[in-house]
Amino acid sequence: MTLELPPQRRLAVNIGVDFDAHATWMGTFGQTSPGFLSRGEFDALVGLPRLLGALARHDVIGNFFTPTHTMSTFPAEFESVLESGHEISAHGCWHEPIMKIDAAEERRLLQLQIEQHERIVGKRPRGYRSPAWDFTEQTLDLLEEFGFDWDSSLMGRDFEPYRPRPVTIDREHGNSFGAPSSILEFPVSWHLDDWPATEHIPGVNQGFESPETIYARWKAHIDFAYERVPNALVSITVHPQAIGRAHYLLMFERFLSYVANLEGVWFTNLSALLPYWTD
Ligand SMILES: [Zn+2]
Repeated sequence: MTLELPPQRRLAVNIGVDFDAHATWMGTFGQTSPGFLSRGEFDALVGLPRLLGALARHDVIGNFFTPTHTMSTFPAEFESVLESGHEISAHGCWHEPIMKIDAAEERRLLQLQIEQHERIVGKRPRGYRSPAWDFTEQTLDLLEEFGFDWDSSLMGRDFEPYRPRPVTIDREHGNSFGAPSSILEFPVSWHLDDWPATEHIPGVNQGFESPETIYARWKAHIDFAYERVPNALVSITVHPQAIGRAHYLLMFERFLSYVANLEGVWFTNLSALLPYWTD
C-alpha cells in the first residue's frame, strides 16, 4: 500500500481550507451569540477573499471543506470559492458535533449534506472531513455506504495516506483491528492546523501563538517530509477566520513561497492523488 507520485514530483502538499463561517461556532462550540457569529462573518467577508487571493498568487489548488450551512448562509462568497477551482469536499451540514448526536441523526445529516452538495456544488463530494476530526463507531461504515472515495480526519500516519481499520475495544486482552477500509485516509494533524494555534476562545483555547512559531513548525514538517519521506503528502489545514488575520496571513504567504520554491513540490487537491495510490 503506497503512494507513488508522478515523475518529477518529490512531495505533495495539500492546503485544506476549512471554510466554516457561522457553522463551527454553532456546531462544535455551541455558540450562537452575536459576538461569535461575527467571527464567522469575518471568515466569509474578510478572511476568505484574502486567503483566496494568497492561494491564487501562489498557484495553489487545494480543497475547501465547507459545511453546507456555510454555502447557504454566504452564497455569494461561496460562489467565489466555486470559481476558484479548488475541490469542494464534505465537512458536515452545520459543523454538527457527530460525537454528541445519535446514530440516526449522523446518518440523516450525512445524506442531507450530500443532497445539498449535489444541488449547490453540482456534484457529490468524493471526500469527507469530519467537522471536528473525530469519528463515531459508525462513521467509517457510513462513508463506505454513501460511496465516498476518501476521508481526511484521522491521524494514524503523518505523511502517508493509509486505509483505516476499525478497532474493537477490549480493555483486558488488547484491542484488535478489523479489515482495512475501502476509504483512503489522507491524515491530518492538529500540529498542522492553524485553529488551535491562533484562535482565542475564552475558557476553551488560548490561541495567540506567534506567526514565527507556526511558521517554524510547519516548515520543519515540510523539510522532514521533503528530505526523509519518499512520496510524502503534507496536509496543512487553514481557516479563513484564523489565517486571514493580518499577521498570520503574512506568515502564510511567506510559507507558501518557501514551499513553492522547493523543486518537485506539487500543490494538489486530494482527489488528484487517488490515481497514484496502489493497494
Ligand atoms: Zn471545520
